[in-house]
Amino acid sequence: MTGSTAATPAPDRPTAGDWLARAAAVTPRNEAFIDGRFVPAASGATFPDIAGRDGGRITDVAQGDVEDAGRAVQAARTSFDDRRWADQSPANRKRILLKLADLIRANRDELALLESLDVGKPIRDTLAVDVPSAAKTIQWYAETIDKVYGDVGPTGPDALSLVTREPIGVVAAIVPWNYPLIVTAWKLGAALATGNSVVLKPASQSPLTALRLAELAAEAGLPDGILNVVPGPGAVIGDALARHPAVDKIAFTGSTEVGRSLLRAVGESDVKAITLELGGKSPQVVLADVGDLEAAADTIGMGIFYNSGQSCNAGSRLIVHRSVREELVERIAVLGRQLAPGEPLDPATRLGSIVDERQLEKVLGYVALGREEGAQVVAGGERVREETGGFYIAPTILDGVDNGWRVAREEIFGPVLTVIEFEDEADALAIANDTSYGLAAGIWTRDVNRAHRLARSIRAGVVWVNTFDAADITVPFGGFKQSGFGRDKGMAALDGYTQLKTTWFDLSGG
Ligand code: NAP
Repeated sequence: MTGSTAATPAPDRPTAGDWLARAAAVTPRNEAFIDGRFVPAASGATFPDIAGRDGGRITDVAQGDVEDAGRAVQAARTSFDDRRWADQSPANRKRILLKLADLIRANRDELALLESLDVGKPIRDTLAVDVPSAAKTIQWYAETIDKVYGDVGPTGPDALSLVTREPIGVVAAIVPWNYPLIVTAWKLGAALATGNSVVLKPASQSPLTALRLAELAAEAGLPDGILNVVPGPGAVIGDALARHPAVDKIAFTGSTEVGRSLLRAVGESDVKAITLELGGKSPQVVLADVGDLEAAADTIGMGIFYNSGQSCNAGSRLIVHRSVREELVERIAVLGRQLAPGEPLDPATRLGSIVDERQLEKVLGYVALGREEGAQVVAGGERVREETGGFYIAPTILDGVDNGWRVAREEIFGPVLTVIEFEDEADALAIANDTSYGLAAGIWTRDVNRAHRLARSIRAGVVWVNTFDAADITVPFGGFKQSGFGRDKGMAALDGYTQLKTTWFDLSGG
């Protein structure tokens, strides 16, 4: 989803010491952003925002609740209903969003630092991938504003039928912590470009870049009330948004479990529009004719270890032909050892921390479960850098896994690769599709016919052939099956933030 394998992050000039000094001095925005202003939670409550890198408190953040969600929805509703954004000229809306993209780039270092602190991502990645990708996304959607046309229906000589695209209204965007800026930009770019007003609910682990982004949007000229940000517990705020009658659409990215609860909430309330981008358990199918095993090992390794495995599309199930399993696994293990987690604010670090202690325990629990189920831990498998107070796990490989085991079926969301061996292509395909998820898949073969055959037969929203995690804003991203429905990115995402209106005119003169 990030294009992590395509990007070649260059170390930034500041040293680890410089970044640590900046981190010590940073004063992040930590209040809710409602109707163009930063405000404390109505209750006055706050919650500590903890850094994955050392377990320390970054800041206390306003802890919104149902009342704050309501205030934000009201601001969004008013701003949508008076058309202060939707009815601006396309050229003007485009200019403002392009300015926002410029401001994201101009504030790259600050945003990258906030993202690294919140999530534990290496600063080299937030500088080279997360922030530039967010800016590019906003720019790309800004550029669609004056290029999307309506249609005239082929309804015969006696009628004129216009098919126009209208914004949906108030969009509640609920986002996860693993790529806060990137996923937020996907939602905001498409929602704002199409003229909607937004209430954004960032994950509690990662509210800081969302709040700064809202401030930058205001600086770019986005009118008050069009973008509101309410941090706080999802079970309270997310649920309140899903049930609020003045919200027209839920745009959710997160776990399948929470996606289900949102479906229930909209079903029990007013059947508002909803799109769900959910979890994954993506297969990497490696055939005997894989070709360059070393290159494949590097890409497959990064496909699971990048972002410490906390990627929805992580290639977490290696389904590998018996003839190449041993060598491939050994090469990935070598890469895993080279990628030993380090201080996220050191520009040389390629793997940072896990986002928080709860996620650390969850991942370690799955490693223990894998051992119980009969897997051999051939790399990693343990917590490292505990002395820092942070939450780090060494890149881990569980070999000899059966696809029926829980470690092969459930989303671990950590740097843990499960290895499953196969003998023939039909088995490989059956194993790849034997999952409740369908977000992404990788296929490794030099045989072009086989590649096409498998790509067609794999039930997943994204299939990579002889590559993995290649990404671009021009093409859609999203899942089949329990990985959700609806698409982020590309022109397809605009469908999720617009509704079609058909208007008939009688031309018969009768
Ligand atoms: P999560 O626990 O589902 O949380 C996602 C968001 O939902 C957070 O803002 C969370 O708020 C909120 N939330 C929690 N409980 C809620 C409820 N009952 N009602 C409404 N909202 C609620 O997911 P996560 O742990 O942050 O992120 C990891 C998951 O996201 C993984 O499953 C991953 O695969 C998926 N993901 C999917 C994609 C994709 O494009 N398909 C991309 C990235 C991530 P709080 O956390 O503040 O409570």
